[in-house]
Amino acid sequence: MSERLIYLPLGGAGEVGMNAYVYGYGPEGKERLIVVDLGVTFPDMDGSPGVDLIMADTAWLEANVNRIDAIFLTHGHEDHIGAMPHLWPKLRAPVFTRRFTAALVAIKMEEAGMASDMIRVVEPRPKAVDVGPFRVQFVPVSHSIPESSALIIDTPAGRIVHTGDFKLDGNPVVGEPFDPLEWHEIANEGAGIKVLCCDSTNVFTHNPGRSESTLVAPLRDFIASQKGMVVATTFASNVARLKTLAEAGRAAGRSVCLLGRAMRKMVQVAEEANVLKGFPGTIQPEDAVDVPRDSLMLIVTGSQGERRAATAQLSRGKYLGLSMKEGDTFLFSSKVIPGNERGVIRIMNAFSEMGVDVVDDRGGLYHVSGHANRPDLEAVHDLLRPQILIPMHGEHRHLREHAKIALSKGIATEVATNGTMLDLTGPAPKVVEYIETGRFYLDGTVLIGALDGVVRERIRMALNGHVLITVIIDEDDVPLGDAWVELMGLPERGKSGGDMMKIIEDELSAFLETAPEKIVRDDDKLDEALRRIARQVAMEEIGKKPEVTVVVSRLMAD
Ligand SMILES: [Zn+2]
Repeated sequence: MSERLIYLPLGGAGEVGMNAYVYGYGPEGKERLIVVDLGVTFPDMDGSPGVDLIMADTAWLEANVNRIDAIFLTHGHEDHIGAMPHLWPKLRAPVFTRRFTAALVAIKMEEAGMASDMIRVVEPRPKAVDVGPFRVQFVPVSHSIPESSALIIDTPAGRIVHTGDFKLDGNPVVGEPFDPLEWHEIANEGAGIKVLCCDSTNVFTHNPGRSESTLVAPLRDFIASQKGMVVATTFASNVARLKTLAEAGRAAGRSVCLLGRAMRKMVQVAEEANVLKGFPGTIQPEDAVDVPRDSLMLIVTGSQGERRAATAQLSRGKYLGLSMKEGDTFLFSSKVIPGNERGVIRIMNAFSEMGVDVVDDRGGLYHVSGHANRPDLEAVHDLLRPQILIPMHGEHRHLREHAKIALSKGIATEVATNGTMLDLTGPAPKVVEYIETGRFYLDGTVLIGALDGVVRERIRMALNGHVLITVIIDEDDVPLGDAWVELMGLPERGKSGGDMMKIIEDELSAFLETAPEKIVRDDDKLDEALRRIARQVAMEEIGKKPEVTVVVSRLMAD
């Protein structure tokens, strides 16, 4: 049987988040497999209330677990490593990544009570990892976290470049620059590049991306011109930005304090992993309280409005003895991720009510993206000249737009969303199979399938309220006493002005008095009849149909 090269995204293709990609090589159905990234995405109140984390459904990988040779992690963002503690135990393959990412993953595993000895630290190219039919090299790329890497995956069918998340930044402040010379070399070794699997996040942004270093002067000038306390937020993992902000604060003669556990930890890990050097001295929160406001700068977590993070806490009042007031400035050195706008705007308004000036990245002075914009993507296409381009890391519209660019350049392409298995052996990609994929929800401490119905039921209860009906049926199949009703999440009184609980109870009791024996004797029929009555009354009284639970207790004759 002939061998083939396959690609299968399980997450990240058709959405921004929960990245998980599979490559395989070998005889059909027996390909050896590697997994690239195991990330999470975050729930929202509309679609997944109460859920803690969302990640790719790995059922297909679990069914083929003996074929997995390794897991590679490109960088330390949550949408690339966040699922490790939850999914690794199902896959149990060795994990390869670079030093800083390894440190972040190890913390994650240990916090989840797991060992971290599955993690192997890899040095960048020319060092390589040989697993099964694959030879994999890590190539440094610039992004918004140190030590991001693209992967060069050499297979008997040709060379794949998996970009991971990247931007073209020759001076990223912290971490390694994007090196066009090295990429030129990579493109020209052997038979060149067969497949480019490429970040699509910013395909709709038409201006060239800007370097992290372009923020240094504007941030320094901005902070120097402020009178009261300055508070700035950004992603904790954007170590370069933390450094730029802290240096700008120090240059303005301010004491700098990092607020938020994630942020202090990130700086510590980056220093230990040797990717961060020369971070300015900072003071502890308990000492910050005594510093005059015009000499203090806080750098805080919670740029996305996360409820428990420092930004949200400050917007509600005192946090660790610190609070904001009129004349202070709050700077969002960050972009709001789609979906988080409402929470962030609520916080901005809360600050505004305190008389705090809120400044965001508008105009691009105080924030740059970590992803390559359209002209940069095109530059990479031209530099690498792949035979096939597979857009990844993007919503459907991003993937499709990226594929259009490829076609316009005569590069074979295919929009492959989660679950689409491509055969990449030939000169053009072929869809060979659709794998049943979905999402896992981490709900509290339990992994459930997104389609298991748990969250659907939770949403229905949240939207419609809940009625609990209890009836007791005696040994002779005769209702004992009246039905008993409890309401949850529903108004007490409706249109008639009467007590709705009482009205439902009366209707149920009236029904039970005359109910035919064949209904009373049958659990399902009784359940259905009582449910219908409760919903009918609620519809008349309050104009909506609640969820109903019927509990029938039957007394047994000895
Ligand atoms: Zn990233």
